[in-house]
Amino acid sequence: MAVLALASGCAREPSGLPEGGPIVIIVVDTLRADGLGFHGYRHATSASLDEWAGRGAVFEHAFSTAPWTLPSVGSLLTGRYPANHGSGRREVALPEGGTRNEFVGLDAAAPRLAARLSEHGYATAAFVTNSFLWPGFGLDQGFDSYDFSRSKFRDQRAADVMVDQALAWIDARAPAAPWFLLLHLLDPHLPYDPPPAVAGRLTAGYHGTLATPIEPALVRKVNGGELELEPADQAFLRGVYDEEVAFVSAQLARFLDGLAARKVLERGLVLLTADHGEEFLDHGRLEHGHTLYQELLRIPFVVWGHGVRPGRRAEPVSLVDVMPTLLEALGLARREDLDGVSLWPALGGGGAPGPRRLYAENSLYGEPRRALVEWPFKLIASGDPARFELYDLEHDPTERVNLAAARPEVTAALTTALLQRAQPVHARAAVELDQETQNELRSIGYLGGSSSGDDDGD
Ligand SMILES: [Zn+2]
Repeated sequence: MAVLALASGCAREPSGLPEGGPIVIIVVDTLRADGLGFHGYRHATSASLDEWAGRGAVFEHAFSTAPWTLPSVGSLLTGRYPANHGSGRREVALPEGGTRNEFVGLDAAAPRLAARLSEHGYATAAFVTNSFLWPGFGLDQGFDSYDFSRSKFRDQRAADVMVDQALAWIDARAPAAPWFLLLHLLDPHLPYDPPPAVAGRLTAGYHGTLATPIEPALVRKVNGGELELEPADQAFLRGVYDEEVAFVSAQLARFLDGLAARKVLERGLVLLTADHGEEFLDHGRLEHGHTLYQELLRIPFVVWGHGVRPGRRAEPVSLVDVMPTLLEALGLARREDLDGVSLWPALGGGGAPGPRRLYAENSLYGEPRRALVEWPFKLIASGDPARFELYDLEHDPTERVNLAAARPEVTAALTTALLQRAQPVHARAAVELDQETQNELRSIGYLGGSSSGDDDGD
């Protein structure tokens, strides 16, 4: 196994980063891990990034904590699962019938990675593009500077622009002054509208009726059963998404080149990850937010930098591990109640954290869903009362065969563990959305509740 080969080399003594070593976290919205060359994808989406991956620690089985942005980025920035940082969606019944979504922001009392780093003397900055990263949801807490833009519909900043902004911000730091930068790129998210540099690269042979930009309305029609796509149309949809991935990958490689030129990798740490993936009819629908299958939960997770031993790691990891890892790397006490474990020893080539349970919860559409991973098994609970599905991710990575009946002992143990956890009920008040955020979320179709084409029969 890759992990054994890696672990058998000489692991470095666990010492920390050099004092004040810079920290970079890059999140690519809607980037499924298996759509990247270094995770085995058959199309050329990430050539220069694949080369970079060869120089980093690549975690093969990295999990998001939710299939949509707000709760998953919340986990990244707090070290807690959505139930414990308190942010997510709830569905409320309308007096006239039907439902709509309400959103709850991060608990102000939840830990904040940026605040801890700031306390330690770090300048902290975020460049983010996504309506769910609107400061009103509380993700900006702890950042000195939080440069936010909404979505791809209006003031979109594409990856090339954001990489330039990030490098300019780094160049404006005083030499040796410590800093933390969060960069959140939205390019692969709907609408799929690949820029000229990549448009047609993977879709040139298509002669059907679809054309870019692919808007959310088309996706809602497919998910609602009003529109059936021919195989060629399906391939075109995936192709234009892949072209967006190719664009963002090239920009990421450029960013990593820029970081290397500035010696960031010698003294600091750089993490590349995603908030969730994207479905292309893997389980019958498109987009994300609606299930907890692997096309939505499995994310890239690659680390470069000081003391990082390049190679492939097989232990399952989660976005909740990021904050504990960085605290340990910087020699900072873990004084908050965090859900994750430190991967710092693993990054140096040391042993895996040992058997553990990872969770995902809170969907953006339809019925409540929760999942628990105890490698290689994954239990998914849907609805209330819950229906349970069990998968063996080692032998069935795309979750085709539900083993819930065939493996009753595993199902029972994981069901008990999942049900013992605190319910992800967000008891606090919903966030008052400003008009612009409301308009944005409505235009993408994110304010609807049960009208979004879910199959839960409510
Ligand atoms: Zn997202």
